[in-house]
Amino acid sequence: MTTADANTATTATNAELFARAQAAIPGGVNSPVRAFRSVGGTPRFLVSARGPYVTDAEGREYVDLVAGWGPAILGHANPEVIAAVQDAASRGLSFGASTPVETELAELIEQRVAPVEKLRLVSTGTEATMSAIRLARGFTGRDLLVKFAGHYHGHSDGLLAEAGSGLATFALPGSAGVPADVAALTLVVPYNDLDALRAVFAEHGDRIAAVITEAAAANMGVVPPLPGFNRDLVDLAHAHGALVISDEVLTGFRVSKAGWWGIEAGTDAAYTPDLVTFGKVVGGGMPVAALGGRAEIMERLAPLGPVYQAGTLSGNPVAVAAGVTTLRLADDAVYAKLDEVSGLLQREVSAALSAEGVAHGVQVAGNLFSFLFGEAVADGAHDYAGVLAQESWRYAPFFHAMLDAGVSLPPSVFEAWFVTAAHDEDAVSRIVDALPAAARAAASARPP
Ligand code: PLP
Repeated sequence: MTTADANTATTATNAELFARAQAAIPGGVNSPVRAFRSVGGTPRFLVSARGPYVTDAEGREYVDLVAGWGPAILGHANPEVIAAVQDAASRGLSFGASTPVETELAELIEQRVAPVEKLRLVSTGTEATMSAIRLARGFTGRDLLVKFAGHYHGHSDGLLAEAGSGLATFALPGSAGVPADVAALTLVVPYNDLDALRAVFAEHGDRIAAVITEAAAANMGVVPPLPGFNRDLVDLAHAHGALVISDEVLTGFRVSKAGWWGIEAGTDAAYTPDLVTFGKVVGGGMPVAALGGRAEIMERLAPLGPVYQAGTLSGNPVAVAAGVTTLRLADDAVYAKLDEVSGLLQREVSAALSAEGVAHGVQVAGNLFSFLFGEAVADGAHDYAGVLAQESWRYAPFFHAMLDAGVSLPPSVFEAWFVTAAHDEDAVSRIVDALPAAARAAASARPP
């Protein structure tokens, strides 16, 4: 523990802090997965983070494989990013007016992701997808939206929708509080299933405004698109006059310098989405997200066009300083390092599980990865039903064995693992050393 970390350690334990938080905040958390419901136990209350490590309120350090749920590609508290934030903060926190740095961030993104000709900044991924959908509806004059089962695009009403009982039927609310009439504007289709998508377009094609898809799914664990799936879905949507919103909130600038689009660009599977959403890395850990795309569509946004969209904190100068600095620092060497650490951990975790006889599948999309437990999924999964077929109960003991050994994994089996370019040999070897005991815990787990 460094002096700085020691200064932020509290005299309260994680359990005491959680009890206090639960009295003041629903479930003690400001976003549900943080409550550890799917793995049990007490969430760690974090007080600082540096490089590949996070430190909890008890002063305990963990190697971090959550990375703030994605943004920290450079590692936590990168000195140049922190300096840029401090410099911006010293000049004022929020102006509610245009700033030069906003244009710089838009230009950086447009230079790297060709389908993005114009871009608007917002504060969260949820806002980005919500605004992209309104824009697609405003542009096409149509109301229906297609999404894929198991894809997450934030918590706006129309996206919290679950598949109805048959293909090509309207969705049901995916949360209490979502009106059935709103959910009914969404059609939910199995991922990677072009035939199902064709069926939906055959029945409702002239009413569909857009298909929204994670460029590579990573919110049900990692499930990459089958080769050519993104391309074929764009072709199909366009044949019916619908738009495609490629959600790169999670993958954008994490899996490559040009996101998932950049991985498939220049291959047989290349595709051109109409709109793209970003978040996480574009804010470098601060609240910045964005929607961008074809100029002709983007120019339908107010004040140029009739589609309203706005935000007091949109393009906040302190947040944008973190995003611009992060993107500038994210060079080829950073992505090579992310790929290297990711590949190494995939192999080490897989070897540890195999050594204990735990059947498993390894799911990979760029440097994002996750594991599926059980014989039934040893060959991997291509959709949500496939992911649900795993022995998910093996994950909680695995997770806790890692946590006890000082490694912080995502507290749910249905999440991607995130590496950073700051994961050096020491951090990686701490993870590798923890694996045998965790694999043994997974091996001896019993179904509930
Ligand atoms: N889209 C995707 C693909 C995401 O992974 C997320 C968040 O995890 C969102 C949208 C929502 O972003 P936010 O949590 O910033 O609202």
